[in-house]
Amino acid sequence: MSTATTSQSASSPVPGVRWDPVFDELGFPDDPSNLYTQTVATMLEGAETVGLQHRVKIILAQPKNEIMAHFPVRMDDGHHRLFKGYRVQHNNALGPYKGGLRFHPNVHLDDVKSLALMMTIKCSLVRLPLGGGKGGVKCDPHALSEGELQRVARRFTVAILNDIGPDYDIPAPDVGTNAQVMAWIADTYQMSSNNRTSTDAMRVVTGKPVEIGGSLGRNKATGQGVVDTLIEMLPALDLPMNDLRVSVQGWGNVGSWAGRILEKKGAKIVTVMDHSGVLYNENGFDCDALTEHCMEHGGIAGFEKQRTTGTGNNPGLGGEVVSLEDFYKTPVDVFIPAALEQMVKVPEAEMIQCKIIVEGANGPLTNEADEVLERRGIPVIPDILANAGGVTVSHFEWVQNKTNHMWTEEFVDAELNRYMVMAARRTLLAKQKFGVPLRKAAYCSALDHIGDVYKVRGIFP
Ligand code: GLU
Repeated sequence: MSTATTSQSASSPVPGVRWDPVFDELGFPDDPSNLYTQTVATMLEGAETVGLQHRVKIILAQPKNEIMAHFPVRMDDGHHRLFKGYRVQHNNALGPYKGGLRFHPNVHLDDVKSLALMMTIKCSLVRLPLGGGKGGVKCDPHALSEGELQRVARRFTVAILNDIGPDYDIPAPDVGTNAQVMAWIADTYQMSSNNRTSTDAMRVVTGKPVEIGGSLGRNKATGQGVVDTLIEMLPALDLPMNDLRVSVQGWGNVGSWAGRILEKKGAKIVTVMDHSGVLYNENGFDCDALTEHCMEHGGIAGFEKQRTTGTGNNPGLGGEVVSLEDFYKTPVDVFIPAALEQMVKVPEAEMIQCKIIVEGANGPLTNEADEVLERRGIPVIPDILANAGGVTVSHFEWVQNKTNHMWTEEFVDAELNRYMVMAARRTLLAKQKFGVPLRKAAYCSALDHIGDVYKVRGIFP
């Protein structure tokens, strides 16, 4: 995730990481696989470039609060299982802590800390009046029944009840959670609050179902933001939207929405990969049909046998099964990693054949993969810009809840586009000003803003 230069990395104990003196001051581990060290290194490089005050650097290098909780949940067969949950509150200088909750077997404290830091930077880049946070529960939501999932969500909410709040820390969906999970959290929070009839308590989470105060356009917002950002960047690359060839890694909420929206704009999604397999379709997938298939079968596998009716670009068979190597080596214009973090390492970065990468996921490239792509001249639209659409519409939802007024989907889309375009332009300006690649430019712009906020607020006492 860094843009560290190779010479700086050479003297560092962690490959791909520029070893800032702040790491020693705060006693960071020099474990090369530590995602948090990598994320902080990226932040510190940007901080160095914009001349951020040392006191702000050390504040941002660690989260304000790291909450960990163990809680028992009754399983369907009657036995109790102990779960582990996290909520990391990184920074609230700009506004309430904000960020998703992920339910995944590989949730660890360091990942959550990294993702929380990214939220602080993301909200600042988009100039939302929000800070950064992230949380999660170590579990496999697909292996739980609906009842078990609901009990996990509600019991976790109770475990962090005093640490979240509509004006203090506002969770949202992330990997493995959705609007239904948010509804259970909001309901549990409201039922447990002092004023049980207060609909205001429902503001404690965003990404809720529309029936209970969710915003129109929130479900597709992250994918929509990916597309809005890409469109803003295309002219600089001299790429026409029509017939754009696209590869998508991960067909979850972000990947499938980005794919569907791009297809409707005339692009062809030619390769898709997820946990269940890799598919190729020279004429472009019927993305609506592929999404329906995933909802029914839990992954893209089997879609190759499905005959599509031609609602998309390609009436005929769904696609053909290809290898993982084919997935990376297929020449495309745009590559969208929209699965989990650290999926693209050096070997994958060497194989990818594209003109631009747009990060739908958070942290999908390792620092070293980033260096490879920079050397190969492939620009990367970074996560903190490209996937900021989700938290932006979360902010819209929160504003709608506060004013008791519902926006139309057209208005939400138009406002989202305005925010994404402004953030993209801000990034391009910083790129020009500091002469750095896009990721570092986005960090520079965000950190500059946080620095200004700390200058006027000061540090108590
Ligand atoms: N989980 C999303 C993200 O990583 C959205 C967070 C939110 O809406 O608060 O940006």
